[in-house]
Amino acid sequence: MSECLFCAIAAGEIPADVVHSDDRTVAFRDINPQAPVHVLVIPREHHDTAGDLASADPSLTAELIGVAASIAQREGVADSGYRIVTNTGADAGQSVRHVHFHLLGGRGLAWPPG
Ligand code: AMP
Repeated sequence: MSECLFCAIAAGEIPADVVHSDDRTVAFRDINPQAPVHVLVIPREHHDTAGDLASADPSLTAELIGVAASIAQREGVADSGYRIVTNTGADAGQSVRHVHFHLLGGRGLAWPPG
């Protein structure tokens, strides 16, 4: 079993509500949703943060954004609007150190965020 929660989900070692899977990326519903649509999009490969990922593999970073956008289409929030957000470090509230993009939609989202 992987020590990283999201590596374990990507490997199928821990169950998740998976909405997308390919050879490089996985997306699954957040266990504690903050909006009607709340999906986490991750690379299978472990990187701690978005900055680490962008340095190591820019094309994979772009792929993750593309996956999030296609899920937004499928979930019916592409026209109403959605947010893609990634938290880095303690001040931003990152609780899982495996880079993940939150896809949030289906309600009005306040700005600035808390
Ligand atoms: P962050 O706080 O930005 O690192 O986001 C981590 C997210 O992972 C939170 O929104 C959690 O609700 C979510 N999460 C934690 N454990 C699981 C899990 N087993 N399955 C799905 N989502 C999870």
